[in-house]
Amino acid sequence: MLDKVVIANRGEIALRILRACKELGIKTVAVYSTADRNLKHVLLSDESVCIGPPSPEKSYLNIPAIISAAEITGAVAIHPGYGFLSEDANFAEQVEKSGFVFIGPKPETIRLMSNKISAIQVMKNMGIPCIPGFNKILDKKDISMIYDIAKNIQYPFIIKSVFGGKGNGIYVVRSEKDLNSLFHIVNMASHSIFNNNMVYIEKYIENTRHIEVQVLSDGKGNAVYLSDRDCSIQRFHQKVLEEAPAVGIDNELRNYIGECCVKVCLEINYRGVGTFEFLYKDGKFFFIEMNTRIQVEHAITEMITEIDLIKEQLRIASGEILSVKQDQIRTFGHALECRINAENPISFFPSSGKITRFHAPCGFGIRWESHIYSGYFVPPHYDSMIGKIICFGENREVSIARMKNALSEIIIDGIQTNISLHCKIVNDIFFQRGENIDIHFLKKF
Ligand code: ADP
Repeated sequence: MLDKVVIANRGEIALRILRACKELGIKTVAVYSTADRNLKHVLLSDESVCIGPPSPEKSYLNIPAIISAAEITGAVAIHPGYGFLSEDANFAEQVEKSGFVFIGPKPETIRLMSNKISAIQVMKNMGIPCIPGFNKILDKKDISMIYDIAKNIQYPFIIKSVFGGKGNGIYVVRSEKDLNSLFHIVNMASHSIFNNNMVYIEKYIENTRHIEVQVLSDGKGNAVYLSDRDCSIQRFHQKVLEEAPAVGIDNELRNYIGECCVKVCLEINYRGVGTFEFLYKDGKFFFIEMNTRIQVEHAITEMITEIDLIKEQLRIASGEILSVKQDQIRTFGHALECRINAENPISFFPSSGKITRFHAPCGFGIRWESHIYSGYFVPPHYDSMIGKIICFGENREVSIARMKNALSEIIIDGIQTNISLHCKIVNDIFFQRGENIDIHFLKKF
């Protein structure tokens, strides 16, 4: 097992990784910005190193500072969590070249699968359905060609950044009159957010669901899939509430798509946890992208499979072979996750400030993953997610009932949160019946 791990992240995921390391007897090093010196995982880790000021570029995205922290503390591995550098192949490469273990796939695998166009090509080569489109890199000079492509694909279609993430760099084009301006907007947005203006085009699928498959693979010829998650309830293409397993999917189809994902893992010699994301409509799956890291919503899969995905990541990174085989994976019950964001529940505008009063939700089947506490100051520099309520029950009704309890019990005063939005969702009759849930679900609120 790894001896000492640097946790190169912050917030709830840093605390989650710290807990898993402690359970496995691994020593921990927290790296933190000056805005985060009072975070729980910083206080609870064996060692901690300040890596820079609050701005992410100067701290959590500062590769030399993170690698230096590993060097001076004698750590052997770096866990990137999610967001920040977790899907940066260059970071993974520098970590490995500096003699540390990167807790994730090999740099070349990240390079292959975090580029959405090459990921689509890998899936197509394996015979897995993808969304019709023009899966080649387009940049500013290609605008005249795009009018012809548009005629072929037909409106509406979507222009996406090749290296997009978190719902950024996605624009829906509904008619020819918007094409020119939207193309330039997505180019500029891609350049400013992802430092790369490459985009591609895909047919826009209306009223679809977002369903994803969790995989675990040891890079030594063993891979499994761990059921699926429905992440259709979104705002600005970003997930708000997730559930596992996805409702109403035929089991044969679920297993087929899971097996396809496993085949891809074996083909690309995938190492670590990963997620294959699909759109699902009328009984058909269409691949959209792969996330080569742990995801925010991993906990709902843990609840229905009783497999600790972070501990599995740490075991795989230690060189162990996968401890479970596909036929040993059983799912039981149903799990929901509400992402609690520090934001205005209507405009979604982020809200920072001091939490003046806090009460955590708890009870049978309720799991609260968060770094916040009474008196904690939510800084304005980072993602607005401040916690996740995860509810598990023997069936969907029980997990919804528990989520309603949890949402009514939680108290976070001093800042704005989206708790009231979650209350509306779980009390919605269609949500409760599992009907009419698609990526536009939140529009009616
Ligand atoms: P990101 O990497 O930014 O998360 P994704 O490609 O995963 O981007 O897409 C995010 C969300 O955008 C999806 O969950 C879905 O709601 C929507 N989306 C993406 N591609 C399409 C498409 N071709 N048609 C309809 N909706 C889409």
